[in-house]
Amino acid sequence: MKRIALFPGSFDPITIGHESIVRRAVGLFDEIIVSVGQNSTKQGFFSMETRLEWLRIVFEDLPSVKVTTYKGLTVDYCKEAGAGFILRGLRTAADFEFERSIGQMNKKMLPAVETVFLLSSPEYTPISSSIVRDIIRFGGDASEFVPSKLRDLINKQPYQL
Ligand code: ADP
Repeated sequence: MKRIALFPGSFDPITIGHESIVRRAVGLFDEIIVSVGQNSTKQGFFSMETRLEWLRIVFEDLPSVKVTTYKGLTVDYCKEAGAGFILRGLRTAADFEFERSIGQMNKKMLPAVETVFLLSSPEYTPISSSIVRDIIRFGGDASEFVPSKLRDLINKQPYQL
C-alpha cells in the first residue's frame, strides 16, 4: 500500500521552515500532499491562489509532492485523499502542546491515521508565517525566510493578496 502523508497548513505564506520539513520527509513517504486548509475563522493574508501557486513553484522539482487545498476536517480529507499519515513540524514547546491536542483528537476521530512530527532544523525554529507576513506588510525584506525559488517573487508586491 502506498504511504501517503498529508502536510496540512495555512502556508500564508510558505517559509523555508515548511519547505525543509517537506524535503526531509520526501524519503519517508511515497507521496506527500501539501494542502492548504480553508479555515473559515482564519482570514488569510495572501489569497488561496497565491499560496497554492507559491507551493507549486517550490515543490515542482519533487514528483512525489502534490499541492492541493481542502475544506473541513483534516481527518475527512485524509480519508478522501487516502492518506495514512499527517505530517507536522515542531519548533517549540508551544507547538508541541498545540499539536498534541490536535493529534490526539485526530487519532480519536480516525484511529487508522498516524501523525508524524519532524523537529524543526535549529536554524529554522524562529521562522513563522506570521513574522514573514509582518515583514512583508511593513515593507521589509523577507527573502531570506522564504524558499529560494520565491526570493525574487516575494518582494515584488503588490502580489495578488
Ligand atoms: P497551521 O495554521 O496549521 O499551524 P502553518 O502553515 O503555520 O499552519 O504550519 C504548518 C505546519 O508547519 C505546522 O506543523 C507547523 O508547526 C509547521 N511549521 C511552521 N513553521 C515551521 C518551521 N519554521 N519549521 C518547522 N516546521 C514549521
